[in-house]
This record gives sequence, structure tokens and C-alpha cells, in this order.
Amino acid sequence: MHLIELYKSVQGESSFAGLPCIFVRLAGCNLRCAWCDSEYTFTGGKPFTEDEIVAQIEALGTGIAPCTLIEFTGGEPMLQARELLPLMRRLLDSRYTLMIETSGERPLAEVPPAVHKIVDVKCPGAGAAANSFRMENLATLTKNDEVKFVLTNRADYDFARDFILTHDLPGKVAGVLLSPAFNKSPSPLRTTDNATLDPRTLVEWMMADGIPARLSLQIHKFIWEPMKKGV
Ligand code: SF4
Repeated sequence: MHLIELYKSVQGESSFAGLPCIFVRLAGCNLRCAWCDSEYTFTGGKPFTEDEIVAQIEALGTGIAPCTLIEFTGGEPMLQARELLPLMRRLLDSRYTLMIETSGERPLAEVPPAVHKIVDVKCPGAGAAANSFRMENLATLTKNDEVKFVLTNRADYDFARDFILTHDLPGKVAGVLLSPAFNKSPSPLRTTDNATLDPRTLVEWMMADGIPARLSLQIHKFIWEPMKKGV
């Protein structure tokens, strides 16, 4: 499996936000979201065996209270499904809690049901990546999973709202996340001024519609400088 980085930090998004988490960032992505903050994952990466990854996870997880939450992210981790799925099964057998951040462009049916899928459905503002979500993957979503929409403007919000209601996401998944996109060239300041959609504006839209979704701010971009890697 090709990895960009493997590190421990706090989870920045989803209902697991704020919890200690080990991140396994896989190399490669088949999409090109206009607002992507992870372009450094598109090429490169180092090959790791399954045993090497498990050993690094075990080493990072040590502490008074071992860290047992792991997120697979990227890039698009499902591009390496052939190696990733056996690793997931092995870690689940060892009682880890697993998350995967994915665009949902690749089939998700083989992901073990115990893995928490965080599916980032691309909105029009994602540019070339818009409409990349594989609709068959809706049938794989359960109350173990969450769906995220990264928003740049009102058109993205309208798309997300209509998708949420049309497909009854609140009835299907554990949470629906609305996350303002961040500027691709942010200032080092840890403020919402770096968001391309003002969270205050988004909240006003959410309140007006009474939309059953959760505002999601990527908390790592307020703890560290927005472009800092490995945190
Ligand atoms: S799917 Fe993720 S890594 Fe790939 S281009 Fe979009 S934001 Fe970047």
C-alpha cells in the first residue's frame, strides 16, 4: 500500500471530532476538487506492507490510554481497496474503531459494515469533481456512517439541501455534515476568514431552512495554521 503519512492527532471532523485519532493517509486521488487542500497526496507516497502499517499504528497508539481510533484518508483511500480492505478486517479483529474518509466515487459495498464511512459528496463548486458520487453507494450507508458536503457558495448549499432531503439522509445515516470550504491559499491566521463561505452565512441558511444537518468546521484548521500537514 502506498502511504503519504501516518500520524496521531485529534480528529478534525465528524461526530468523532476532538478525539485522539491515528491518521493513515493513502497516496493518490482520481478526482480534482477545485478546493482540494490535499494536492500533495496526488503523487508519490512510499510503499508499506500490511505488517509495517500495523506496527506503526501500534507504536503510535501507546499511552496511558491507548489510541484505538483510526482514520483512513487520502487522497482517495478506496483506490487501494485491494490492500486496504484486508487491513481493515485485521484491525477490526484487533478491536480498533475505524473510519474512512472517501468521496464515494469508488464502490463501497465491500467496506466492512463496522467501519464508519464519512462520505464526501461533491457539490457543483468542486468543479471537475462535481457529480462524482456513485449513487449505488447510497444503499451501503447505515447509521454507522456520515455524509459530508463541502460548500463554497449558495448553489452548493442548495445542492446539498436538496440531496439531503431527496435521499432522506437523516433517516439513513448517523449524521449529515455541512462544511465551509477553505481558501486554497489561506493566510496563516487560524480564523474563519480563510473559509470561502462564511460559516455565519451558512448558519443563517441552515436556520432559515431548519435543515437537519450539523455545521462542521475543520477544527485542525483553527488549532494549527490551515496548511500545516501531519496534524
Ligand atoms: S477527493 Fe479529496 S484528495 Fe481528491 S481532489 Fe477531492 S479533496 Fe482532494
